Amino acid sequence: MRILPLGAGQDVGRSCLLVTLGGKNIMFDCGMHMGFNDERRFPDFSYISKDGRYTEALDCIIISHFHLDHCGALPFFTEMCGYDGPIYMTHPTKAICPILLEDYRKITVERKGETNFFTSQNLKDCMKKVVTVNLHETHWQDDEIEIKAYYAGHVLGAAMFYVRVGTESIVYTGDYNMTPDRHLGSAWIDKCRPDVLVTESTYATTIRDSKRSRERDFLSKVYDCVTQGGKVIIPVFALGRAQELCILIETFWDRMGLKVPVYFSAGLTEKANNYYKLFINWTNQKIKDAYVHRNMFDFKHIKPWDRAYLDQPGPMVLFATPGMLHIGTSLEVFKKWAHERQNMIIMPGYCVAGTVGAKVLAGQKVIDIDNFTTVHVNLQVKNLSFSAHADAKGIMQLIRQCEPRNVVLVHGEKTKMGYLKSQVMKEFSIPCFDPANGESIDIETSRAIPVHLDAAFHRRLWEREQQAAGTPGENPTAALGGPATPHFPATTAAADPPVLKPLVDLTVDGLLVVDESGTEPPRLLDPKALPEDQAQIRPHALEFETRKRFGPESVLAKWTRRPPVAVPPSAGAGTSTTSTETESDSTRYRQSATDQVLQVIHNFLRENVQPARVLLNPANHTVVIETMAIQVEMPDEPNTVDLVMTWNYEDEDLASQVLASINRLA
Ligand SMILES: [Zn+2]
Repeated sequence: MRILPLGAGQDVGRSCLLVTLGGKNIMFDCGMHMGFNDERRFPDFSYISKDGRYTEALDCIIISHFHLDHCGALPFFTEMCGYDGPIYMTHPTKAICPILLEDYRKITVERKGETNFFTSQNLKDCMKKVVTVNLHETHWQDDEIEIKAYYAGHVLGAAMFYVRVGTESIVYTGDYNMTPDRHLGSAWIDKCRPDVLVTESTYATTIRDSKRSRERDFLSKVYDCVTQGGKVIIPVFALGRAQELCILIETFWDRMGLKVPVYFSAGLTEKANNYYKLFINWTNQKIKDAYVHRNMFDFKHIKPWDRAYLDQPGPMVLFATPGMLHIGTSLEVFKKWAHERQNMIIMPGYCVAGTVGAKVLAGQKVIDIDNFTTVHVNLQVKNLSFSAHADAKGIMQLIRQCEPRNVVLVHGEKTKMGYLKSQVMKEFSIPCFDPANGESIDIETSRAIPVHLDAAFHRRLWEREQQAAGTPGENPTAALGGPATPHFPATTAAADPPVLKPLVDLTVDGLLVVDESGTEPPRLLDPKALPEDQAQIRPHALEFETRKRFGPESVLAKWTRRPPVAVPPSAGAGTSTTSTETESDSTRYRQSATDQVLQVIHNFLRENVQPARVLLNPANHTVVIETMAIQVEMPDEPNTVDLVMTWNYEDEDLASQVLASINRLA
C-alpha cells in the first residue's frame, strides 16, 4: 500500500492524502490551508497527474468532515482542475460544507478581491457530484472499493472512513475525539484490523485535563474578566465548538444570575440550528431529548450580535467567527478590542500557522494584519483547548479499538508527532510513520487471498487435524510439504474432463478452484464434493511438485554401499568418463552416486509400479513415469540427495503410490 500526503504531512491544514490500495487510487480529504493566500493554499495536485488527467488517475475522493482544512479545495479540484469522479461524504457534511465554502468564497473574492477562485456555480456543480454515505453502512463502488463510515464526534457529520480493496484495508480518521462533549458523542470504530490506520495527531503530546476542570477554568476566566469590566471575545468556528461553549455559558449565566450581555456573531446561527434539527441523530442523547421540548439553540442569555455593539461601553462576552481570526467578525472585533488591557481573548481551538489567531497565541505584541493595519496587542490572551481533537490518550485508545497493523500520523506538528510515533511503536509494537508532504511511503501488507471454504468441509479438515495431532508418525501428506503448490498453466479444458478420484493412499486436503475470469474469489472444495460440482468447474492442469531430501548416512550410504538391487558397475562410469582427467575425485564420486541413486530408483519403481510405464533418462538424471518426473539432484551438502517429483493432477493415484514406495525405500 502506498501513502502520499499532499497536505497535512507533518503539518496542520489542507488535509489531503493519496492512498493506493488494491490497485485503486483514493484521495482522503481535499482541504485548504487557511494560513496562505498563494498556491500553498491548496494541496499540490501535480503528484496525482502531471498532465491534469485527474479523473483517470483517481478512483474516488472521500471527505471526512466539513471543516475547510478538510474540504476547502474540493470545488477548485473538481471544477477548475477538472476531476469528475465520485466524491463521498456523510449527509450532514454534504449539507453544511457548501455553506462554509460559499462563506469563504465571498470573503476571498468579494472582500479581498481575489480572482482565480471558484464561483458559486462551481460550488453547486461540485456538490452535485457528491454521493452520500450513512454511518455503518457498507458502500460498494464498482463492486471493488468497500467504503464504511464510522462516527467521529468532532463536528456534526464528521466521520472516520474504513476502505477495503481486495485484501488491503485502511482507516482514515479525519479529525475525531474520543470523549463525548455537551452536544456530540465520542468517536467509535469496531475491531476492523486495518492494514493501516491514518490518524490525525493535532494534540499528539497533550493529555488534556479532565473536561470538567477545563470547563471550570474557562468559566472562571470569563467571569473574572467581565466582573472587572472587561470585554471577552471568543473566536469560534460557526458549527461545533460554538454550540458547545454557548451551552456552557448559558448554564453558568443562569446559575449565577449574571446580567452581563452575551452575543453570538455568526449569521450562521440560524442555519446551524436547522442542521442540528435535521441531523439530530448525529448528536448525543441529551440533545436528542432536549429537542422534544425546545430548540437547543434558543438561548435565554445569548443574543445575536450587531455591529453597533462594537463601541458599546461596559463588559460583554462575544462569540465570533471565524475561529482563527483570519477574516470576518472575529478579526474586526479583535482589532477594536486588542489594545485594552482589561479585555480578554480566549482561543478555544487550534490556529493554523500564519493566521492572526496563531500570532496572538504565540504571544506577539505587534501584529501586522495587512499592509495598512497594525494591531498592538494589550489584551489578555488565553488558550483553552476546547477544540474536539483526540489527545494522546484518545489516539492510543483508537489504536487499541481497531487494532491496525501499521499507524500513519498526519495533521500534526513534526516534533510532537515524533514523540507520539515512538510511544505508538513502544506500546503496540507496530510500525508507525509520519511522512512529510510529497513524501510517499510503501507499507507492506498481507498478500493472503481470501478463499471460500464450505463450513462442513472446514469442520472435517479440523477434525482430521485433531486426529493427526493425536497420532504422530509418517503421514503421506507431510511428504508433500503440507498442501501442494498448485499453479495454473494456460491450458484449456478438454472436451471430456477427467474425473478426479478421491485418493486412497495420499490425502488431498482440498481442491482449489479458481475462476478464470477473476470475478469470483477462489473456492476450496472437498474433493469428495467434486463429482456433483464438476458441471461448473473448468478443469485446469494442476501440477504438483515435491522435494524429498535423503539424509547423510542413511540412504545414500545404504544405496551406494549396500544397494537393495545390484547396480551395474558401468552405469555410473559410462556417462562421465570422457572428461575425468580434469575432475576431482569428489566430483567423480558424487556424479557416480547420482547415477547410482537414479538407477536404484528406476529399478525400485519398475518392481513396485507397472514396469512398462517407467522410463530412465540418465542424461538429465530423471526417471519418468507417464506424466510424472523424478529427478535426482545433488545438493551442495555431501552425502545427500534430493528427489524432485513433479506430476499432473491426473496422476494423483500414481503419485501417491510412488511417494509411498520411496518412503519405504528411505
Ligand atoms: Zn476539523
